[in-house]
Order: sequence, then structure tokens, then C-alpha cells
Amino acid sequence: MLRIDGLSAWYGEAQALREVSLHVDEGEIVTLVGRNGAGKTTLLRSLMGLHRGASGTIRFLDEDISSLSPHKRARRGLGYVPDDRGVFATLSVEENLTLPPVTGPDPWSLERVYETFPRLRERRRFPGTKLSGGEQQMLALARVLRTGARLLLCDEPTEGLSPLIVQQIGEILREVKAAGVTVLLIEQNVHFAATVADRHHLLAEGRIVESMDNDEVRARESELLQYLGI
Ligand code: ATP
Repeated sequence: MLRIDGLSAWYGEAQALREVSLHVDEGEIVTLVGRNGAGKTTLLRSLMGLHRGASGTIRFLDEDISSLSPHKRARRGLGYVPDDRGVFATLSVEENLTLPPVTGPDPWSLERVYETFPRLRERRRFPGTKLSGGEQQMLALARVLRTGARLLLCDEPTEGLSPLIVQQIGEILREVKAAGVTVLLIEQNVHFAATVADRHHLLAEGRIVESMDNDEVRARESELLQYLGI
């Protein structure tokens, strides 16, 4: 579904990504793991077309999208869920869900969102400010699904959330996957990553230095946590 070849990115003179190549198949959840500053966010932003200083080839559904604007990438079915979640604090849950325009090929109806995330139906009149971190994350994911995205680029959805909420995010990601949506996910909690994802890439100084399956991540969990400084 997604194939990246030789993706490099710069901030001025400083190189943040160095010839990154990877692929994500339809229906997979693939994680990006790495220390702070490894280049994970830059990679997702470059895929979405939000980072201007990038070069390399990005193919999505057999089309070269490397030079398309973020808006056109969204139309093809890419959706970005930023780490700040981008929830409009003063608007209600339902307003947050009805605001984004349909841009992608597979938009979710409000009813489908509420069936998948019953918590959002319960909270639909609540303003964004009154939501817990987990509910905000749910809303951020649901909003991107409303736009019709087929591949979600998620920037660390579990960051700062309690273990119970992290577990709920896991269930949500499994439901999203069961609905046929593909996910490329930044995730530092490697224990959690091995329970939700299919494959993992470790990024260091802008390069993919290792690619692992769940068994390998489980076997090396403490070593990876130590390396990540968690
Ligand atoms: P984190 O988890 O801390 O966000 P990350 O793996 O997502 O880390 P990036 O945010 O992609 O890493 O950063 C990659 C490199 O690019 C780092 O060296 C960072 O300092 C640098 N960088 C990121 N944003 C900018 C910016 N706006 N201007 C200059 N350098 C930046």
C-alpha cells in the first residue's frame, strides 16, 4: 500500500532522515520506534507532505505521491493524527467530528464512528477540554477516519496515558485494523507495540537500523526499553 524509497529530510543544513526505505502492506499495523530526536515525527510529516525539506520516493497505492500537496495526499487516503491530537478544545465532540471535510476515499459516517467508539457517543455534547487523554486520542483518530483516510499516520497515541487507557487505545487500534484501515504508528512502549502491531522498525539518527517482528520485540523488550531510555 505504502512504499518509501530513499527518503531523506532536512531542517536547513541538519539532516533528520537518511535514505529511509520501508513498506506498509494493506491492513497492517507497523510501528516506528526510536529515541527522542531519531526522526520519527519528521518521517510521518514527510509522508503527509507537511515537511518541505524532504527528498526520495513515496508511493501510495501504486502512485508516486512524492510531489503532491498534503491536501492531495489526504484525498488519496493518507491521514495524519498529530501527537498533540489537534482536538478543538472549545467545540463539542460532535462538532469536532462534523467539522473535518471529507477528503479521502473511505469516509466514516457519524453513526459508524459512534458504533466503533461508544464512548464518543456518550460524550458527544462534551467540549474537548472536558475529555480525558484517552478520549481525546479516540476523538483524534475518529476525526481522521471521518475524513476518509485509509492509512493512518499516528504520532505516539499512547504518550502520557495511564496503562489502562493505553490498553483501551490498543483495543481501538485493533478495531481500526479490523475495519480494514492500515496504520503506521510511532510507539515507544515496545511491550504495547508487540501486542497491537505486525512489524516494527527501529529508527536511530534518521536511519532504520533494525526491523523486527513481534517475537523479536518481546524477546528483546528490556534491552529495547533500556536503549530507548524508558
Ligand atoms: P521526538 O519523539 O522527540 O519527537 P522524533 O524521533 O519524532 O523525536 P523528530 O522530531 O522527527 O524526532 O526530530 C528529528 C531531528 O530533527 C532531531 O534532531 C530534531 O532536533 C530535529 N528537528 C525536529 N524539528 C525541527 C525543527 N522544527 N527545526 C530544526 N530541527 C528540528
